[in-house]
Amino acid sequence: MTTISPLIAGNWKMNGLTHSLEELAELARLLTAGAAPRAVVAICPPATLLAIVAAQGASSGILAGGQDCHMAASGAHTGDISAGMIADTGAQFVIVGHSERRADHNETDDVVRAKAEAAIGAGLKPIICVGETEAQRDAGEAESVVAAQLAGSIPDAAEQHEVVIAYEPVWAIGTGRTPTLEDIAAMHASIRSRLEGRFGADHAATIRILYGGSMKPQNARDILAIENVNGGLVGGASLLAKDFYTIISAV
Ligand code: PEP
Repeated sequence: MTTISPLIAGNWKMNGLTHSLEELAELARLLTAGAAPRAVVAICPPATLLAIVAAQGASSGILAGGQDCHMAASGAHTGDISAGMIADTGAQFVIVGHSERRADHNETDDVVRAKAEAAIGAGLKPIICVGETEAQRDAGEAESVVAAQLAGSIPDAAEQHEVVIAYEPVWAIGTGRTPTLEDIAAMHASIRSRLEGRFGADHAATIRILYGGSMKPQNARDILAIENVNGGLVGGASLLAKDFYTIISAV
């Protein structure tokens, strides 16, 4: 079976000013002081800090990622950022289809897929987010909702290029609540099986499936030990170097 190196990615969301780079420096210090981390580590800061995080993280192996990109390469889209611009900062990843963007900006699966295609075209690895709402889970629709999001949001180019999937139940994001370990295991197995159906077992086995939603130092070890969980997308707990480092160390 293929072994995938886990990825722990921090999503700073709309948080972070230049003084937040002190947390990045502290994370770098923690990462280089002890044994080499068993995970690939990335920080997705706000766009204003992306170039500096990419440059400052490089010496300690911290990769950088954007939080969103436009689907077009350039043009009259005031306020937007293209995948090429993100790649130009030295970043390697970009989150697309985060539930906050799906909700706040009405992003559909078609839009998310186009953004993932743009990311791949620019040489980035898209982190494609999927996840059900609480009402959908309560209605027993979680797996079908996520399956439809996967079908609609992952571009065919994922057959030749690296993409990352992040399963983030909407109701777990920023709430301190998480699904049971059994529910996470079931959803990740379901996602793996959908990827196998579309891309074949060999290629599907190489695609990272991250869990996201209130991952914290207290629960990271249990969640990261689940089969088919190949890392985490971490929001709130990525803002403090100490907490984020504890999660990275839980791999
Ligand atoms: C996220 O928004 O990607 C996320 C996982 O947030 P939190 O860890 O704060 O729930």
